[in-house]
Amino acid sequence: MTILVRRTKGKLPANKIRAAGEAIGKGRIVVFPTETVYGIGGDALDKDAVRSIFRIKGRPPDNPVIVHVAHASDVRLLVSEIPATARILMETFWPGPLTLVMKKSEAVPNAVTGGLGTVSVRMPANSVALSLIKAAGTPVAAPSANLSGRPSITTFGEAVAELDGRVDFIIDGGKCRIGVESTVLDMTRKLPLLLRPGGLPVEEIERVIGGIDIHPAASGRGKFRGRAPSPGMKYRHYSPVHSSVILFEKGQASGPSIAEARDRLLSSGFTVAMLVTDEARLRKGVVVRLGSSKEPERIAKGLFSALRRLDRSRVDFILAEGIDEKGIGLAVMNRLRRASGGNGPEELENLIALKTGTQR
Ligand code: AMP
Ligand code: MG
Repeated sequence: MTILVRRTKGKLPANKIRAAGEAIGKGRIVVFPTETVYGIGGDALDKDAVRSIFRIKGRPPDNPVIVHVAHASDVRLLVSEIPATARILMETFWPGPLTLVMKKSEAVPNAVTGGLGTVSVRMPANSVALSLIKAAGTPVAAPSANLSGRPSITTFGEAVAELDGRVDFIIDGGKCRIGVESTVLDMTRKLPLLLRPGGLPVEEIERVIGGIDIHPAASGRGKFRGRAPSPGMKYRHYSPVHSSVILFEKGQASGPSIAEARDRLLSSGFTVAMLVTDEARLRKGVVVRLGSSKEPERIAKGLFSALRRLDRSRVDFILAEGIDEKGIGLAVMNRLRRASGGNGPEELENLIALKTGTQR
């Protein structure tokens, strides 16, 4: 049975957060809010708890999970060495949406790291998450709470719909403030390497420590085969189950426009929704606007919920408008590219043939 910890008058009872935290200390699994997305957490030092998380999510065992701490000093327990640059980043950006990959200590079970010699750590900027981790009395391993491959969860309602009956507690933290996952930075190299763009923009990191390397797969383009530096890169992720996402990149040179693709699909009898900025000039059909292209933070915040909502409505195609890769826009584009499985307008006819084939 899952205990749902609800808010009363907008507030969560402190004793209930404490009870959920103490349950983590006893090997239980808790879904909780962070400022990025909801996480599914368990005791990071208990390999059985960590294995349960993988099982519940259906997560491939080689895809490591992030360990969450409530005090920067807890990092010492988890890593064998804290590079000087990592210390600066922790002091500047924690608590916050920045995950640092460092060499792991003996204390961290292999189940957490997918067998890698490194562990990823962050301190979330969310008071519920921090109280929970403190009450657990142990670092909390917590990947995003979605079932593996699906869009991340950013509201309590989505968490209940997906995980009620599968975990011990689900805590209501309302809507996540940022809406995309943390930025993941590999600190084991001379020049830190961006593995996943996220809530903390690269520009802000570079303002503090100077230039960093950006892994080619961090854009979300292309498919990864073989050994990826960050195993999450090679798996399908953020994808709706029923709807096919087609991404229209900014400055796209060939293929139909969003309006043309919509007309083509509607005339073939498909249902279509358009996921666009406030500025897009589209009137006909189902238009979901995520915000102005000048406010990528707003777009990031609503992105996953919109994908989930449209998927629930079982719309055949989602035509998504790309945005600039500045600031958090890079994280938005990474998620959209991966949600679309790399499908752009030039794939339209192939996708139509594919869907027609599977429907008949
Ligand atoms: P999620 O838990 O869903 O936010 O995904 C965590 C992401 O961090 C995945 O893409 C992982 O591959 C990546 N990650 C976690 N730990 C490590 C690590 N030790 N080395 C490289 N990437 C990691
Ligand atoms: Mg995830």
